[in-house]
Amino acid sequence: MHWRGFLIKKIFVVEDDRKSLDLFKAVLNTIKNIEIITEKRGNQALHKIKEEKPDLIILDIQLPEMSGIEICKALRGEGMFMSIPIIAVTAYVMEGDEERIMEAGFTKYISKPIRVKEFRKVISEFLSQ
Ligand code: MN
Repeated sequence: MHWRGFLIKKIFVVEDDRKSLDLFKAVLNTIKNIEIITEKRGNQALHKIKEEKPDLIILDIQLPEMSGIEICKALRGEGMFMSIPIIAVTAYVMEGDEERIMEAGFTKYISKPIRVKEFRKVISEFLSQ
């Protein structure tokens, strides 16, 4: 999306935990020329993502109604979301979970609690690709 000559990149964040969402937004807001859209419920998120067509998606795994893994699989199954970065951010790490997450089609996995500098760097790098 172009706005006053700048290329604005759209980031869609799906997170049901208020504290985590506030932290993600605070960190992302330090990146220039981005628009942040958020949603708490999995089902709603899938519909809104299809409408908004973001440049990058950050997905919590454990969400009401529909998990981040289900959302990612659904998006990757559709032609228009084949190549955009979809990043999993979750504390949900048991044996085999990381493999399950990557198999769902995520681009990268970041564990919670996030390290602010690393989180910002990873997102910035994906946005500049
Ligand atoms: Mn959650």
